[in-house]
Amino acid sequence: MIDFRSDTVTRPTEAMLEAMLKAPVGDDVFGEDPTVNRLEALCTEMFGMEAAVYCPSGTMTNQIAIKCHTQPGDEVICDKLSHVYQYEGGGIAFNSGASVRLIEGNRGRVTAAQVKESINPDDAHKACTTLVSLENTANRGGGSCYDFADIQSIKEVCLQNNLKLHLDGARIFNALVAKTDTALQYGETFDSISICLSKGLGAPVGSVLIGTKELIRKARRIRKVFGGGMRQAGFMAAAGIYALEHNVNRLADDHRHAKMIAKALEAKDFTGAILPVETNIIIFEVTGAYTAPQLAAKLKEQGIFVIAISPTNIRIVVHLDISAEDVRRTIEVIQLL
Ligand SMILES: *Cc1c(COP(=O)(O)O)cnc(C)c1O
Repeated sequence: MIDFRSDTVTRPTEAMLEAMLKAPVGDDVFGEDPTVNRLEALCTEMFGMEAAVYCPSGTMTNQIAIKCHTQPGDEVICDKLSHVYQYEGGGIAFNSGASVRLIEGNRGRVTAAQVKESINPDDAHKACTTLVSLENTANRGGGSCYDFADIQSIKEVCLQNNLKLHLDGARIFNALVAKTDTALQYGETFDSISICLSKGLGAPVGSVLIGTKELIRKARRIRKVFGGGMRQAGFMAAAGIYALEHNVNRLADDHRHAKMIAKALEAKDFTGAILPVETNIIIFEVTGAYTAPQLAAKLKEQGIFVIAISPTNIRIVVHLDISAEDVRRTIEVIQLL
């Protein structure tokens, strides 16, 4: 089985399992798990921020950040395709009682001008805009990346209007590997950053929220309220440390593999528009002979698993557990379809 459904399907390697097995642990709710503390310190240092908190999922780190930055009745600005809006169970309303202002962005990315015009005036009729949430890379944008200069322009608008800026960086390392920007630049710019260890980095679970000391102190309280306070979580955190130390640079291989697969798709009659492949995700339109679910079923017969994200579109995600041989085999199958 060659599984392109998501970069969450990776399994820990022997070396990662060994690191987990040997991890010293303690009760993290008491702040006494040395491995969780090491992971949090590592993330803090990488992004040049003040503090970090380890959580079970990226949904939780995003939701905690939104809760920290808003009051009930506030409004959050984000792209209409963003994970915080589309795939977190209505959590912005459920957890924070906040409303959402959706922007029709370009492949999941918004501009400073769009943010500016989405800010509500200081008027008693209106919800109070307090937060902007960006996603990089943008999943539903086909793994698209921001130009850092555009993020800086958005930051300017936030500063002028007293808005906080959050980054859903579930795949921030894909963006960093694809571009020349640094983690420190991101740390300087955002008020909070959520990173996922369980996506392309290959850890079995875990995400980290990074920010100021004050924000993270508040985040720990909210993590407890959300039921995310874990005890001997160091076994899992050890996988996260291993992932950050070993699996970041190799994301470039995934990006190269994604481009190779996209090229094979391009040559086929059933392929319509393909979103530009910037990182490890391919989103393409299926036309002609098949619907997207039909093509997905065809590929499944050959042991290749993809997701039809709509009646007309398929998503392919390349990751750590897709070998060069898997890519070769996939291209061969595509050519014969
Ligand atoms: C996967 C993902 C998350 C977090 O998902 P969890 O499954 O809750 O860890 C957040 N944002 C984006 C863009 C994602 O792709």
